[in-house]
Amino acid sequence: MAQPQGQPQYTPEQIAEIKKKLASMSPEEVQEMIKKQCIFCRVLNGEIPTYPIWEDDKMFATLEIQPANPGHVLVFPKEHFSVLPQMPDDLVAHMFKVVKQISSVVFEVTGAEGVEIRQRNGQAAGQMIPHVHVHIIPRFQKDGVPTDWEPQKLAEEEFKKIQTALASVAKQINISTPTSAPVKIIAPEPAPVQPTGTKTKSTKKKTPKIKRHP
Ligand SMILES: [Zn+2]
Repeated sequence: MAQPQGQPQYTPEQIAEIKKKLASMSPEEVQEMIKKQCIFCRVLNGEIPTYPIWEDDKMFATLEIQPANPGHVLVFPKEHFSVLPQMPDDLVAHMFKVVKQISSVVFEVTGAEGVEIRQRNGQAAGQMIPHVHVHIIPRFQKDGVPTDWEPQKLAEEEFKKIQTALASVAKQINISTPTSAPVKIIAPEPAPVQPTGTKTKSTKKKTPKIKRHP
């Protein structure tokens, strides 16, 4: 869902004040405050009207108010999580089952030639609302919805370096043991959303930083 206009901008002094206040709050109080400010949590509370199409006790599916095409749906959990790795495994599994079923409905109802699933984590990845969500976008030949990235040319040693780093950490994954313990978040939390039009675009491509779990 795109960001509505008029989101408050904070001065550095106000940000320092907020950080100070956060430090003195309990995790429950912090969670409560995040939920009050989160657009999707406010949708779930009925404070912001939307166009719901389906829900159960864990998931909510609604039309995107700034759709790429008619029938563009968002699916998100009713519990607040900022990014996907924070969600318990069983909830992620449930979310993608819902995404699969809604995709089927979107195909059927819109007559789409394709359905694109987008899931973004962190502002750098284009996540505008810091509450996990999945876009289900009906697609048609030459509909003009941008999908592709400009491929970077990596040298053989760059492939090898990032491959080794990823594979050595990925080796620790135990897929057969479901866990509700979130994976360690090594990327920063998404920053508060910015008003439409203020999104800055970096023109410089960066080599991905290699970070390891401690
Ligand atoms: Zn939320």
